[in-house]
Amino acid sequence: MAFPDWTVCLLGVAASICGCFYFYRLLRNPAKISWKKGFVADLMARTEKPLFWIAYSLYTRTKLGYMFYKRQMRKAREKYPNGHSRTEPTIINGIKIIPLPILSDNYSYVIIDTVSNLAVVVDPADPRSVQSCLDEEGATLEAVLCTHRHWDHSGGNTALVRHHSSCRVFGNALDNIPGLTHPVTDKDVIDVGTRLQFRAFYTPGHTVGHMIYLLDGRSFGGPNSLFSGDLLFLSGCGHEYAEDNLLFAAEVEPGNVEREQKLQWVLQRRSQRLCTSPSTLREEKQYNPFLRSHAVDLHQALGLQQNQDEDWTSYRARVLEELRRRKDVYKGR
Ligand SMILES: [Zn+2]
Repeated sequence: MAFPDWTVCLLGVAASICGCFYFYRLLRNPAKISWKKGFVADLMARTEKPLFWIAYSLYTRTKLGYMFYKRQMRKAREKYPNGHSRTEPTIINGIKIIPLPILSDNYSYVIIDTVSNLAVVVDPADPRSVQSCLDEEGATLEAVLCTHRHWDHSGGNTALVRHHSSCRVFGNALDNIPGLTHPVTDKDVIDVGTRLQFRAFYTPGHTVGHMIYLLDGRSFGGPNSLFSGDLLFLSGCGHEYAEDNLLFAAEVEPGNVEREQKLQWVLQRRSQRLCTSPSTLREEKQYNPFLRSHAVDLHQALGLQQNQDEDWTSYRARVLEELRRRKDVYKGR
């Protein structure tokens, strides 16, 4: 989820209010003034978290967030009438997976069993592009699999269900997903026809009810495919963030040869506006720093060392924490 323009404006207003309040408190208690310590850093530390949560709540819980998502969708349709990237479907034993470019950097995925013409869509942000894909393919929508409630993943649910009365909507009940008909929890199985079988996995973090979905390759004699929502991106942790993520990976693990090769491939693809999805988990483990908390090179680049009284799991959690902190302040190119 990326914060929209209006939240920046809102943050500006809120920052001014907090700033005035902070000044007022300092003037009442001048002993606390310590310019040498860095007034701005102090102010940011005190205001950043509450402001984030105000903007986040407005975006996810109110009509204002929905209105903004609609506006973003209109703007993206004008700016990219044919989508932000060019994508190619993957077809294995009659199962077709079509990435649909949505908004300015998202993807939805339409999965069709071309034998029965039954279709499933993962995270339909823009109902119009999902519908035109279904029309083009002559497929019937049987299920929406929603990874989480953010509008850029769930915004099309209600409109699609209105058009497809037999369509079921799966997702975690904790996440307040629009149009939800079939709440799922960890390891639940979802069957669509005889050849599409998904397993849901509970992966909280990005939201309290974030789910990912694994298409089981055994039911059609192909490989498994993971639809990871906002849990995991190419070299990061659905969106077209590959280039930025790999540049960040270069900062924290500069000597990684696989990462450099993948970056060159991504740069070449992006120069033609080609989609960089999918990748395999085997590849991701080679260069995605968020899947490499065990790597000694990464520890050295981050300047971290395991403490004597610290077990391996806690140490790896600390490595992840440091990675997340650095990614949050990473400014890109
Ligand atoms: Zn999200």
